[in-house]
Parts: sequence; structure tokens; C-alpha cells
Amino acid sequence: MEKIYRGVRRFQSEVFPDHRDHFAALGAGQAPRLLLITCADSRIDPALLTQTQPGELFVIRNAGNLVAPYGAFASGEAATIEYGIRALGIQHVAVCGHTHCGAMAALREPESAVGLPAVEAWLEYGKPALEREETIEGFEAPLTRTVAANVLAQLDHLRTHPSVAEAEASGDLTLHGWVYDFEAGRIFVSDDAAHFRRLDSVMREVA
Ligand code: ZN
Repeated sequence: MEKIYRGVRRFQSEVFPDHRDHFAALGAGQAPRLLLITCADSRIDPALLTQTQPGELFVIRNAGNLVAPYGAFASGEAATIEYGIRALGIQHVAVCGHTHCGAMAALREPESAVGLPAVEAWLEYGKPALEREETIEGFEAPLTRTVAANVLAQLDHLRTHPSVAEAEASGDLTLHGWVYDFEAGRIFVSDDAAHFRRLDSVMREVA
């Protein structure tokens, strides 16, 4: 923990003073641009990846970036989704899976989750990915295809949440599916079907 505490001290002494005004302004409230639902994996840094500042990302993280269908149980995910969309008026939600995801590897090989009953139970919400991974276009590695299929499955689960369904139907909310290849620093985005494309190629077409 010593390295962590030293980091906090350095933040306080060297970083915070340059951002004092920004944090003071955020005391009045937040208006995040995006609800990012991603994995708890330590190799993902949402603010670094999106080059955003405090106040811009509303974030849900868990093993496998899973979203249980609405009503499955009282979950932190459901509460955070509802609050973000209804109370904060967030207009974009991205589910972001990533390469080398341990949760998705466990989904593919359930024996690796033996002795981890909570993981095993949670991964139940990722199982629809296994049924659709064959349809995924844009990735060679089998595990990455599962990651991508899981992103699409979780977008379906998101749409079972009334706050999401209502805001999307009224045109106030757009859902995005991302796969983050952290080794290459690349983001792949899904179109409406099972096809993923590199973000830079999509942006070139838009520009
Ligand atoms: Zn992961």
C-alpha cells in the first residue's frame, strides 16, 4: 500500500493545486457526457483512454462489464443506470469490453471459476454471449469474439431497464458497444449488428 499512499500524497501536493478551480466548480453538480460500463480489470483506465477530466464520465465497473436484466435483483448497476439517465440526463451509454478479459475467459472455460462461487453466479449474465459469438465480425481471436458478443448481449440487457428503453425510444439516449484492445491502444465500435470496426476508420467516414 505504500506506493498507493505515496501516490495520494503526490496528488495532493503536485496535481490537485492545478485543478483546484475545476474541482470547486464540480461542487455545484455534475453533468457527465457518458455512462461507461466497463470491466474492473486493472489494465483499463477510462479517463486515460478517453482523455476526460473528473465530471465527464459516469462509470460502472464490474467483472466482465455485465448488466443484469432489469428486475433480476436489486443491484448497484441498476441503480446507477437509472440515476445516470433519469437524474443526470446522460445521453450516451457505452459498454466497453476488452481483450484478455479474465471474466470472459472464465465464461468460455467454466472450470477456471471453480472455487469462485460468486464469480460463477455473476457470469450467468454473460452466458448469452456464448450463443452469439459465431456471428461476430471483426475479430480473429476466439476470446475477443466472446468479449465482443458479450458487449452486444449486455446492450440487450441494458434495454430491459425502463430508464434506458424510455430514453432511447424518445431519442434522448444512444447506446454504444466498444471493444478495447489495450495492447494496441485501439477501440472497436459496433454498428447495429454484430460487426465491429476500428474507431479511427469510423471517424474518418464521419469527418
Ligand atoms: Zn475483464
